[in-house]
Order: sequence, then structure tokens, then C-alpha cells
Amino acid sequence: MTLGRPLGRVVVVGAGSAGCVLAARLSERPDVHVTLLEAGPDHRSADTPPEIVGPSFVAAKDLPDRTWPALLATRASGQDPRVYTRGRGIGGSSAINAMVALPGLPADYDEWVSRFGCTGWGWDELRPCFEQSALVLHRAPRIEWGEVSSAMAEAVPAAAEGVLLTRTIDGRRSSVNDCYLEPARGRGNLTVLGDALVDRVLFDGRRAVGVLLADGREIAADTVIVAAGAIHSPAVLLRSGVDTPGVGDNLHDHPSFPIALRRLRPASLDSLPIATVATLSSGLGDGGDGGDGIADLQMLPIEHVDAAMPDLAMVMAALMRSRSRGTVRLASTDPTIDPTVDFGMLSDDRDLAPMAAAIDAAEQALAHPAFAAVGEVLPYDRSPDAVRAVLGDYVHAVGTCAMGTVVGTRCGVIGYEALLVCDASVMPQVPRANTHWPTVAIAERLAQLL
Ligand SMILES: Cc1cc2nc3c(=O)[nH]c(=O)nc-3n(C[C@H](O)[C@H](O)[C@H](O)COP(=O)(O)OP(=O)(O)OC[C@H]3O[C@@H](n4cnc5c(N)ncnc54)[C@H](O)[C@@H]3O)c2cc1C
Repeated sequence: MTLGRPLGRVVVVGAGSAGCVLAARLSERPDVHVTLLEAGPDHRSADTPPEIVGPSFVAAKDLPDRTWPALLATRASGQDPRVYTRGRGIGGSSAINAMVALPGLPADYDEWVSRFGCTGWGWDELRPCFEQSALVLHRAPRIEWGEVSSAMAEAVPAAAEGVLLTRTIDGRRSSVNDCYLEPARGRGNLTVLGDALVDRVLFDGRRAVGVLLADGREIAADTVIVAAGAIHSPAVLLRSGVDTPGVGDNLHDHPSFPIALRRLRPASLDSLPIATVATLSSGLGDGGDGGDGIADLQMLPIEHVDAAMPDLAMVMAALMRSRSRGTVRLASTDPTIDPTVDFGMLSDDRDLAPMAAAIDAAEQALAHPAFAAVGEVLPYDRSPDAVRAVLGDYVHAVGTCAMGTVVGTRCGVIGYEALLVCDASVMPQVPRANTHWPTVAIAERLAQLL
């Protein structure tokens, strides 16, 4: 990737956590013109649907045009593919996510440098990017906490404080459309196009010169930045014929085991589903890859998970550092057909003991009397085969255009010019954190470097 040239006309593909940050930051420069292309609908911040503004990600993700409903994924071997939720429309997944904001551990980013050769992406460089991000962050006041979160706080001291959420002080969701794009909308050098599904990148030799939309429109560019997320960015590259080894490999997420609770009192679907998380350490050693067993487990209490079942709550026991890897592959060259996604969770035996430790921790928490007042834990089977059969994701897909393999340390696709990828797909290893804020920090960092 040659960076000597001016950026000129920049096309950003995908208006999610990374794409909106890049569009806003790069359009601060008068010498750059940015066109931000988003497959789903665009709207101003003031026109955000109430389901997205409100407290419940369940209501937000149930909006019909704000996810990719035909996108399926296999979590672990033996499972049938099930829907894998990704945001669609302005703000991407930040418009429908559960708003939890955690940065991860400094060691997560230092490991990107030491193990994956991502020079310039350690904690010293990324910390300022977290700090300077325009995200609006507040904890929910205790009065807003649901019964499951409150019980978790009683049972596990690590959950007592609550977690930062991407919300304003008065409880309105603050997506990257609100806090990055909205203040930039008036700039003459920024164009935002919704309902613009990108088919492929156009090349002159191995230099990107624009993109082709699914409706046949061509948009010329001096620089193309693909920010379509960890599932769709590799799909765009593969459709474009990019032959860099590793595109679509290294897919991973935080595997999670769901334990269901039948509530005595149904939750209101207008209430906040997640107010706190508990981060714990398995103490289980490294398995030869530098893992330290610290902060590698998370318990997530969720007040309601399904609009049709308000009496169903969940405690997710999640593994925050997974060694298993999967793939994203093209199912078709038709851009309207989603790729084939297989996470291969628990395919690496080193994930089995920490996964069991996560379930142990959740069981200990649920045995606390505070949970008895909330409802009844529904029966579950934690034998290894049963865990594999019901294992879920954390909607934290990363890794499929990994830095060090597919892109270099300026996010340029190796072997190509003027083509970059910047979103959750460039993380070589998922941090021990929910992935929105880290994705924003990555985009801030690239904007700095460019
Ligand atoms: C339901 C849900 C809950 C979550 N909860 C949390 C949470 O509480 N905390 C947290 O930290 N993380 C959470 N996450 C994860 C987090 O939101 C994502 O990791 C993060 O938003 C990823 O950012 P991204 O820029 O990589 O991709 P996205 O934000 O997904 O953006 C990609 C964008 O590209 C668009 N796109 C895709 N293909 C094309 C194409 N061909 N042409 C044009 N546009 C295209 C998509 O429509 C989308 O808008 C959650 C995710 C989901 C789905």
C-alpha cells in the first residue's frame, strides 16, 4: 500500500462503528473528499427510529431493515447454522448493540505488536485513541437496573459498579451516527449515501480506483477503505477477486454459554437489558500462546432477550479469549447473498477448560440467594457435547482481514495499492472486551496515521 499519494477522493464502504469514525475524521481535512456508502438506510440523528434511541437492543435489532436477516452462521461443529446478527443502516452495529463500552486490557494490544507484528498498535498508541474518541459514555443509574443485573451485583462484587454504556446522561443511545457523523454532516466534502450496497472494488491493475454498487452505479475513488465489518469486509474483498492469503480466515468471537432464567415478574421491553457485566479470571495458563488466564471470563446478565418472551432472562457465561478459529467464505458472487460463516468455536481443545470455568462461575453466581428472588434457573446440560450443541456467540466477530496477515500496519491490503480495510476484521486477536469501543479506537488510530 503506497501512502505517499494524497488520499484525494476516499470511498468508505460501510457506515458502522469504524466507517462513521473514518468518514468524520477524514472529512476534517479540506483536501479530502469522503463518500460514505451504506447498504442499509441513512437518516439524520434526529430521525433515528425510537426503537434505536431507546434502552433495549432487543427492540432495536428487531427492526426489519436494521440487520442482515439472511446472514447465518454455524457456531460449533454439529450445530445447524442460525441467524448471526449484524447491524445494517447508518451507525451499523453501533445502532443496535447492547451499548456496553469496555476498552480491553493493555496487554491485548501489546500482544498485537509482539505476536502479530502490528507495530504502532500497542496500548501506548491506542490508549489516546480510546480517550479521544467522541463516544458518549455513562453508567446507568441504579434505579434503571433490572432485577437480573441487581442480583448479579449482589452475587459478584466485580459487577457492583455497573458498566459504561454508549448513552447520553438522560439515557438516549449514542451511536456513531449521532456522535461522529451528525457533527460532520454539514461539510461540503462529505457525502453519505444510504441504500448503497457495494458489490466489489474496481481496480486498475492492483490499484483500487473505485467501487461498483449492486445497482450498477460506479463510484470513482483515489482511495477505497472497506469498513463493512468482520463478516462483510472479507466478502467484499473476495467478490473483488483480492488474492491476498488469509482473507476470510481467523474468524473468531467470544463463545458464550447461555443459562436461561424464567422470571417471576416479566421484564418491560422498554427497559434496559444490560446494566452491568462481571469480568473474572480463570487463572488457566497460556496454552503456549501467551494467554495469562487474567480477565478471560465474562458474565453478562440480560433482563430480556426476546420480545415474545418477556419472562425469559439470561446469564451468558463467555470466554473472552478464544483460540478456536473459523472462516468466512463466499456462498455466491451475488452481492445480495450473504457469505457462509463457520466460527469453529471450541475446535481448539485449549478453549474447553476456560469455557468450563466460565460456566462454573455463572453457576456460582446463580446459586446466590439474590437470584432466587428473580426467578427460576431453567434446566440445562453442561456436558461437553451439550455445551457444543447450544454454544452461542457474543456478536463480536473479528479477525477476518487480520493485521499482519491481510493488511499491513497502515491497514493497506497487502499486495494492493489504495485499498485499505479498517473495522473489527483487522483485529488479529479479539481483545478481552466487547468490540465496539475497540473498533472505534482502531478507526481513530488509522485516521491519525493517514
Ligand atoms: C446485537 C448486537 C449487540 C452488540 N452489543 C455490543 C455491546 O454491548 N458492546 C460492544 O462493545 N459491542 C457490541 N456488539 C459488537 C459491536 O457493535 C461490533 O463489534 C462493532 O459495531 C463492529 O463495528 P464494525 O465497524 O466492524 O462493523 P459494523 O458496525 O457492523 O458496520 C459495518 C457496516 O457495513 C455495512 N455493510 C456491510 N456490507 C456492505 C456492503 N457490501 N456495502 C455497503 N455497506 C455494507 C453494514 O450494513 C454496516 O452498517 C454488538 C453487536 C450486535 C450485532
